[in-house]
Amino acid sequence: MGLRAQTTLLGLDVADLRELLGPATPAYRARQIYDALYKRNVADLEESTELPVELRTRLLSATPHGHLTVDQRFDSADGTVRYLLKLPADGRSVETVLMPADDRHTICISSQVGCPVDCKFCLTAQMGLERSLSAGEIVGQVLHVCKEHRLEPRTDHVNIVMMGMGEPLLNLPNVLKAIRILCDANGVGFSQRRITVSTSGIVPKIAELGAAEVRPYLAISLNASHEEQRRALMPITKKYHLADLMEACKAYPLRPREFLFFEYVMLRGVNDTDADARRVVSLLGNLRAKLNIIALNPGPGIPFQTPDPERVESFQKIIMRSLPCYVRRPRGLDIYAACGQLKKMQAGDLVTIQ
Ligand code: SAH
Ligand code: SF4
Repeated sequence: MGLRAQTTLLGLDVADLRELLGPATPAYRARQIYDALYKRNVADLEESTELPVELRTRLLSATPHGHLTVDQRFDSADGTVRYLLKLPADGRSVETVLMPADDRHTICISSQVGCPVDCKFCLTAQMGLERSLSAGEIVGQVLHVCKEHRLEPRTDHVNIVMMGMGEPLLNLPNVLKAIRILCDANGVGFSQRRITVSTSGIVPKIAELGAAEVRPYLAISLNASHEEQRRALMPITKKYHLADLMEACKAYPLRPREFLFFEYVMLRGVNDTDADARRVVSLLGNLRAKLNIIALNPGPGIPFQTPDPERVESFQKIIMRSLPCYVRRPRGLDIYAACGQLKKMQAGDLVTIQ
């Protein structure tokens, strides 16, 4: 078995599994293991009785399955479920959120433990970066939620948004591998059109994502209407200037009927004026874009306030004259599951914030 010892089965594709099994094992065994892991989503390969006992034992002793387990679970009054899922490699945990709805379910997954991008309005930023996730740990979050809630990606309407902890474009190879596995019609079976990855704007990686054969929709966290404002809120802008970000967006190879999504966290008295809205229009007006407004979700140590609903409405109206614009309804605020609130808050940390 040739792959690195710490590799888990989750995260391997058929070619990796073939390499792992070696030439002495018939090639169809790799496909059987792949089906068990991803199509049938088994939690334990011991359930796969089609595999000879000797093979199962040999495989699992060298390479653990790698499935994530529940460290903690929080249930919101609105039906949202936030998980702290334990990573078998080192016992750290990562946040994954399920937002159920009548007609569709959305799973929000993480790409890193913590985040190295220091956005001033985001709780995850306060953690710093602990580490990036492997492809298996990214896929494992989705498989866990699907299994636990009996969701079937091939027949149920399930969306994935990579808007949990971390900056996905700083972990792009693992993110892309996870997406290839999730979108394999002979495996987990998600459609590329059901997956969205959100970035704070790691400019050189945007083109790399655009060139990927299997790729999700792209969302860009804009959050400001001009360079100086963006630098103050998102220090990453000092490295990747707003003008260069907009150039990368213009050059992004959109597929037929595809839009670029932009997100704008509104902060009272900071970036929420009608003049800001008009500047956003001039930034995005010539792109095939949609804007999602998120009124700030507050949290301890976040030095900003949520704008009044009338301010949000006025901002939205100005944007809507030029491009589609929605206000995102916060989900799971009471359990720290909403955008920007993922910092492994424990039960004792939960205070009433509404
Ligand atoms: N790191 C990526 C993806 C995770 S953050 C990114 O920044 O895009 C997901 C979204 O939550 C981003 O659009 C971010 O701007 C937003 N966000 C962060 N903190 C927030 C807060 N306190 N309230 C509302 N939205 C927030
Ligand atoms: Fe990281 Fe996104 Fe939070 Fe910024 S908003 S600190 S990029 S998770």
